[in-house]
Amino acid sequence: MIVGDDDGPPTRPVEVPQLPLTRSLRGLPASPGVAVGRVVVFDRRSVPIARRAIEAAEVRVEVSRLHDAITHSRTHLEALRDRLDPSIDAEHRLVLEAHLLMVKDELLVTSTETEIRAGKCAEWALRQVADELVRRLQTAKESYLRERAHDIEHVVEDVLRALTGAGTDLPALEDASVLVASDLSAAELLALPRGRLLALVTELGTPTGHTAILARALHVPAVVGVRGATRSIEAGSVVIVDARRGEVQVDPSIEARASAEDRVDRYRSFSGRLRESRDAHTALADGTRIEILANLEIEVELDEALDERAEGIGLYRTEFLYLDGTQPDEERLTEVFTRVGRAFAPRTVTLRTFDLGSDKMPRARGGEVGRRHDAFEAAPNPALGLRGLRLALAMPEVFRTQIRAVLRAAHTTPLRLMFPMVCTVEELREAKRVVEHARRELVQARVPHALVPIGAMIEVPSAVVLADVLAAECDFFSIGTNDLAQYALAVDRGDPAVAGLASPLSPGLLRLLRPIMIAAASCDLPVSLCGDMASHPLAMPVLIGLGLRSLSMPASEIPLARAIASRLDLAACVQVAEAVLACATEPEVRRAIVARLGETLGDLWDEHGLVL
Ligand code: PEP
Ligand code: MG
Repeated sequence: MIVGDDDGPPTRPVEVPQLPLTRSLRGLPASPGVAVGRVVVFDRRSVPIARRAIEAAEVRVEVSRLHDAITHSRTHLEALRDRLDPSIDAEHRLVLEAHLLMVKDELLVTSTETEIRAGKCAEWALRQVADELVRRLQTAKESYLRERAHDIEHVVEDVLRALTGAGTDLPALEDASVLVASDLSAAELLALPRGRLLALVTELGTPTGHTAILARALHVPAVVGVRGATRSIEAGSVVIVDARRGEVQVDPSIEARASAEDRVDRYRSFSGRLRESRDAHTALADGTRIEILANLEIEVELDEALDERAEGIGLYRTEFLYLDGTQPDEERLTEVFTRVGRAFAPRTVTLRTFDLGSDKMPRARGGEVGRRHDAFEAAPNPALGLRGLRLALAMPEVFRTQIRAVLRAAHTTPLRLMFPMVCTVEELREAKRVVEHARRELVQARVPHALVPIGAMIEVPSAVVLADVLAAECDFFSIGTNDLAQYALAVDRGDPAVAGLASPLSPGLLRLLRPIMIAAASCDLPVSLCGDMASHPLAMPVLIGLGLRSLSMPASEIPLARAIASRLDLAACVQVAEAVLACATEPEVRRAIVARLGETLGDLWDEHGLVL
């Protein structure tokens, strides 16, 4: 477009049409696919407020709006408090009582009224007073006062929501849209209307977080860890989400759209070709059998797992049954487990007892799980707090109910049971006692049931160190490399700032696998691996070389995994594994694999879009 000539400025103003400029934002690829659509923004962290100057005549109205909002917020807090169970929630009750006092705080209210009289609308006045209060508290010498700053923020956000009508509710997604969110939990993703979510872009989260895992299960392209996304992408704008590259293009040109669609087509045809030779069994080129199992989060994935001819379910994340806040009872759990089991029979389904907590919090607050919601939220470091087996043992009734359901379902279909986040031998023993107790109850009540093999997930470093002892006390291992990476490398699964450090090719992670395999072999214990690493196109040959013969992965990854396996032979995998274990750094590991297997697998890596 010419707006002047080279000889100088134009003699009269030239109208420059405001063409939108394409902008590109980068994040981490979390669920593959490309989508083009209009944006809906969901930012729950801060309430956007108007900074409106008011006339003297409006002061009364604004003061009364402030008081109405405070009353509303107080009622809300009181309702929360009254729902608590006094026997288990004493601490949380104290927090709510403190918030109730703050919301009525004289200083906060009278200072805000003063600001309103000085000509500010209620929300502006409140924000200003609160910011000043928080600033003063944050610089206080006493740690007790500094900690109160967080409480004030919480209370003020609540009143601001009442003032502005801003909800924390998820957007309804009236039309098919791309959701751009500051953060989205797995429970929230589950609650969004299926079919209307074209793609997901979040500021927080990492590819191994559970929101990403669920997005993959639902085939929703997702890019996570996109810094500043909610501020820099406007609601209503059009974006291309290229989740294989981790790229979000805002206001794309027609050419950019065409090229994105072309990429989708090419990937579809690659996946189609991979699926042409669907075998019920997988073997290496030398005939070594590799068992390929599917991971399952929600029942809708069953069809795909069956369609890809998974040889069983290696990980059923049963906590997803609790995420909507309705705590399923024994009958419902028995029904679901029987249905899933029968769909796969005679192949085996491995049920993991609920691994709630950390980034898997229920959305609503039903039952005991729901009542613990606020305790979860208040946990200083939820990934190191009450989650997985620890939480199950802290909720004996909920745990026992689930175990009874598993034993009952096992009466008609082959099931295995495993526990997440086993950190100590005591925990494994206690969990086994719960199983034994449930069995005795069923025997006494003459309820048909069957015993099931019991496994431990090996996903924290202490379990690796204790693998020989654990192996002697259970029937199988399942290695959870997503958490093993989180805990071994000290990389929070929810924090995009450090996500790059948790590579499946990190020597600090890979070297932990050998002792697990040795401990299992010494007891002839079957081992499977169900973390994302199982289907990583570079890591898979290493896992086979280390002795793994059973890999569990999202059903969508099975065709590529089969194609890779069919080109490998065991001797080459063993050599690669040895080479990798001698490497000191992640790039060295990557190079060692590429150098040895590039010729055999290079075209598959390339078409899959792997960046080497
Ligand atoms: C893992 O940690 O590797 C695992 C499979 O469990 P989840 O991803 O559900 O924590
Ligand atoms: Mg895990």
